[in-house]
Amino acid sequence: MAPTPERYFDHAATTPVDPRVLDEMLPFLQGDGGNPSSIHAAGRRARAAVELARQRVADLLGAEDPSEIVFTAGASEANNWLLGQFATGAVSAFEHPSVAEFARARGFQTLGNDGYELKAPESPPELVSVMAVQNEVGAVFDLAPLRRWARVVHSDVTQAVGKVPVDLDALDFASLSAHKFYGPKGVGALYRRGAPALDPMILGGGQESGQRAGTLNVPGIVGLGAACALAIDERERDGQHALALRALLLEELRPLADWSAVEAPRQSPFVLAILFHGVVGETLVLDLDRQGFCTSAGSACSSSEPHSWASLRALGTDAAWAAGAIRISFGKANTTESTRALATALKASVGSLRTLGSRV
Ligand code: PMP
Repeated sequence: MAPTPERYFDHAATTPVDPRVLDEMLPFLQGDGGNPSSIHAAGRRARAAVELARQRVADLLGAEDPSEIVFTAGASEANNWLLGQFATGAVSAFEHPSVAEFARARGFQTLGNDGYELKAPESPPELVSVMAVQNEVGAVFDLAPLRRWARVVHSDVTQAVGKVPVDLDALDFASLSAHKFYGPKGVGALYRRGAPALDPMILGGGQESGQRAGTLNVPGIVGLGAACALAIDERERDGQHALALRALLLEELRPLADWSAVEAPRQSPFVLAILFHGVVGETLVLDLDRQGFCTSAGSACSSSEPHSWASLRALGTDAAWAAGAIRISFGKANTTESTRALATALKASVGSLRTLGSRV
């Protein structure tokens, strides 16, 4: 069955572009194609649109000045760029691969943890980087204590921005991606407190104050700004909506045996990871897909590796339970009806997969 927007439950992987965001982008894809570095009228219009977007990103984050925002091609780029500025660092064991893999290649420390409680680094690093909201299970991390551990604090706020409040006071740097909150793919930003000059991401024509060369992705940046403006108005309501659907799904699953929801002490309402004992997560996701529901067996960024949930490894989840993990992530288009339908499909699929599993 073809997926419909109501049956798309994979908003942590990506969200569709909001039609209001697309409306703002279209003029810059069609007629108004000026280069923001050009001094003619078309260039000036593009420049004004880019600077409005910069202001909107700053407003959503609560940044003091728009010059603190540098546009990038997404959060992976922003994470790699920022981490690459430091010789020593410490990152949590829960990070997205764009932090974790870079940190590993650099020989950074991995912070220990007791459940969701992070432990201090073994030796003081220059940088500490901890994500604001975990992408697989939706755990919200307390960023305030990080300053005790390092001179510079970075957070990958990709799954928080536009959804869950970000404690910007706790941070010097933050990375985000537009497509996680109804903007386009391939565009994001790095927030730099006080706009310090970093080693440039790309050398060339001096765009973005010499920090990242290359002709700006004007439609993408406009889309990011529009998504930020919408999020300012709608994040509260969207959060309530997600909270209600999440609770509904959990309630509807109650009759089913042998499953467990991953619940952090501070939890994003947009993400729900469930472990189904006796089922393989990928098989369940494919069975739901057949019925028109999009869910996920781990983050889309690492789905080539089965059972590669960093969060479940960090939490020490038993392998037999981790194998049956799926992630459901809520968004604007999901409804009470589609959530009930997902619960019905889940109960039926888990039941039949367990029966099949017990026969082999
Ligand atoms: N960080 C987190 C927490 C994410 O969830 C993602 C997207 N899966 C990224 C970074 C990377 O974003 P992008 O792929 O847009 O660079």
